[in-house]
Amino acid sequence: MPNALVWFRNDLRLNDQPALQAALRGGFNPIPLYIHAPEEEGAWLPGAASDAWRHRSLLALDASLRARGSRLSILRGPSLEALQRAAAECGAEAVFWTRRYEPAIELRDAGIKRALRGAGLRAESLNGSLMVEPWQVESKQGDPYRVFTPYWRTASAQLRMPASMPAPERFPDATPLAGAVGIDDLRLAPSVHWDEGFWRHWIPGEAGAHAALARFIEQALADYVQARDFPADFGTSRLSPHLHFGEISPWQIARSIRQLPESGDVYLRQLGWREFANHVLHHFPETPESNFNHRFDGFPWADVPDTTLDAWRHGRTGVPIVDAGMRELWATGWMHNRVRMIVASFLTKNLRVHWKHGAAWFWDTLVDANLANNTLGWQWVAGTGVDAAPYIRVFNPVLQSQRFDPAGEYIARWIPELAGLSAKERHAPWISGRRVAGYPAAPIVDLATSRLEALKAFEQVRAAKSG
Ligand code: FAD
Repeated sequence: MPNALVWFRNDLRLNDQPALQAALRGGFNPIPLYIHAPEEEGAWLPGAASDAWRHRSLLALDASLRARGSRLSILRGPSLEALQRAAAECGAEAVFWTRRYEPAIELRDAGIKRALRGAGLRAESLNGSLMVEPWQVESKQGDPYRVFTPYWRTASAQLRMPASMPAPERFPDATPLAGAVGIDDLRLAPSVHWDEGFWRHWIPGEAGAHAALARFIEQALADYVQARDFPADFGTSRLSPHLHFGEISPWQIARSIRQLPESGDVYLRQLGWREFANHVLHHFPETPESNFNHRFDGFPWADVPDTTLDAWRHGRTGVPIVDAGMRELWATGWMHNRVRMIVASFLTKNLRVHWKHGAAWFWDTLVDANLANNTLGWQWVAGTGVDAAPYIRVFNPVLQSQRFDPAGEYIARWIPELAGLSAKERHAPWISGRRVAGYPAAPIVDLATSRLEALKAFEQVRAAKSG
């Protein structure tokens, strides 16, 4: 049986793995391979929290392969050289992988495909992470979409659920490739164990992803429509890091949530936002670096001191819902979507700090850091992106807190200093004049004044031509 390399990337699973299936269908013996080449990610080298997750996810994948008689060979990049060396060594006739959509990676992969084919190898990329390819959805005029609702109307009409693809029970033996290193050698796991607390919340890897899905379906899916905006509850699936690393595919989720059509449809629409984010990133590859709406290029962002940014980063702004979110992020590598919007609005509007500073901090600290979703999320809140919330919509963090964390439970969980206050006081302790030891006596910025200043700043760019 001829060999084929199965190049694992952000698709760290064995079930519903199109690259693996393509190798098997083609009559090849699959040689599982992972290449460590962070420098090929362009300006977006994986952040520290992502690396910590990837370390565990690779261990989990290798363990699953070993349980099936195979193993994961880890090579160091450059990717093309590693693939060429590996193919020559084991006489592989083909290389299969699933697609990624980050601009630097799309470019790299296109070059790799050309070079491998030029050398006489069969090189094939497949869709393993999206329900619809970014280029398959276009408006009647043949343009990419810039607004989610019409995008999803067209995209969801194209959805065709594929048959599931179970992992093979046994693989033929795969001897490790020469030059293969151990997973620990990649030094992805932090040497100072700041991530220790993360793993009380997460189990990276395919089995962990399916356990998380099962728990969500059993405990939360039925109430998803009502509960998903309340950060104190277990109301959302927390599948985002598993999806990012491809430990589970959107189709696997879609198949499972069909049992509850009403919540299932709303949930599928959220997965639609992930599809949309990739559509936007593919068609507008400059958006991680620059405003989608060029009108904002002249926006007077504030030049705040590092101490202000640090207060935001570490949850010491004096605005409890903002601080609770930032502390949840620091402690667990994840933050609830509603709170992501609140902290992002506070940074870009009340503090008037450029969204890129926020995106960079999220990039380093989120276990689900994802270029498409993070860019869309930040530009959406900042008002600079596609289908964005208008800049003049400044979230009032106190009202948001009262509405979405009415009992102040989320605040008390992440800011124990405030747990002794009544629920009402927790939202804005400075209003009742309550001093709490160790917590700022007042917000680092006056919420009302800063809102007005943000609106005034917006007036300066309003007249400019939109992008
Ligand atoms: P669920 O509600 O269970 O949703 C299911 C899945 O749908 C998610 O796992 C995610 O893959 C997708 N999804 C849900 N909402 C969105 C959305 N608004 N945009 C895109 N996809 C969505 N998500 C990331 O995966 N990575 C990021 O780096 C990221 N950065 C963000 C930054 C900001 C400023 C904002 C406002 C949002 C960001 N999001 C990001 C989107 C969203 O907050 C997370 O996907 C969500 O909180 C993940 O939790 P969940 O899996 O429980 O979500």
